[in-house]
Amino acid sequence: MAGIYIHIPFCKQQCTYCDFHFSTTFDVYRSAMIDSIVQEIENRKTYLHNIDIRTIYFGGGTPSILNEAELKSILAKVYDAFKVTDGAEITLEANPDDISGANLEVWKKAGVNRLSIGLQSFKKSDLEWMNRAHTVSDSFQCVKLAKQHGFEDITVDLMYGLPDLTMEEWENHIQEVMDLDVPHVSAYCLTVEEKTVLSSLVGKGKIVPASEDQQSDQFLKLLEKLEINGFVQYEISNFSKPGYESKHNSNYWKGEWYLGVGPSAHSFNGKNRSWNVSNNQQYIKAIEQNLEFSTIEVLTQANVFNEMLLTGLRTIYGVNLTKLAEIAPISLVFQQKTAEFEKNGWMEKSADEVFLTKEGRLRADFIASELFID
Ligand code: SF4
Repeated sequence: MAGIYIHIPFCKQQCTYCDFHFSTTFDVYRSAMIDSIVQEIENRKTYLHNIDIRTIYFGGGTPSILNEAELKSILAKVYDAFKVTDGAEITLEANPDDISGANLEVWKKAGVNRLSIGLQSFKKSDLEWMNRAHTVSDSFQCVKLAKQHGFEDITVDLMYGLPDLTMEEWENHIQEVMDLDVPHVSAYCLTVEEKTVLSSLVGKGKIVPASEDQQSDQFLKLLEKLEINGFVQYEISNFSKPGYESKHNSNYWKGEWYLGVGPSAHSFNGKNRSWNVSNNQQYIKAIEQNLEFSTIEVLTQANVFNEMLLTGLRTIYGVNLTKLAEIAPISLVFQQKTAEFEKNGWMEKSADEVFLTKEGRLRADFIASELFID
């Protein structure tokens, strides 16, 4: 089984912290971009070697900007070019301010059956310095409205580690999400990425980021609250009620194949990884003139081994040692280090798998990097 990711590189406005690929001035080439995405799907229909498609994911940017005709034309091409399984998970990332009764009906009719809604915070001043396009009231209303229109598979994004966010406020944000009664939550720590508006505000001292201690205290509080409310942390940043795990993202973490279309989208088919140019005009021109628009990296044994470790250790599925050993032999150093992590209470082992404990998940990237091979 494989998945298809479609990157819609348009946003109404620029969130201060965001380093994803998008443009806010897209009206003049909007239809050329949609045509190019449709054409890329056609051009790359053999990339996944005819494997059935189990998930389709509209990400961005802001896919909820798409109108009915645009959304339908992209999906029609996916169904035309690939064998999509019955009941495939079709996710659309939606910003709260785009969620209206009319749009929900369009998305439902088009086949979207999962919504990923970027709430981020329930504090007015946070949404303002983040330059989000929605209000706190939108956050509450949009989830209710989505449910009224028949969407039950809903995930919301929340951010912690925000400047001046007190523990009390953070607990309230978690409670607000619990009260919205959604089956899936993704929570991300605010990171100051280079070349973002946030990084310049931090550089000028206008915003002071949360300390590492505050970040990890908030993360631990999140784990505690979500566990009490019946959520399972199936990946470091992702929590779901049983049966509501994101199939699309789980595919990434399990090393399944995927095709990414649109500017900046990444693809993987077991043999190579590729990423499309992160420039809207160059992407459109390349598609129109049949020029190269992606960089291809042929994966080495070490790449595949390290990637399996990095992604697997972030999930409750852990890392299968037999599968890992099929890529490269498990060394003595690996065994010594995993024994050390086990002794520290960071790792657990079953017959054929290694997993991180709650404490270990706080250090997942460090632990994985210690086990990497060259
Ligand atoms: S809406 Fe999403 S993709 Fe667009 S700028 Fe904001 S965070 Fe980035």
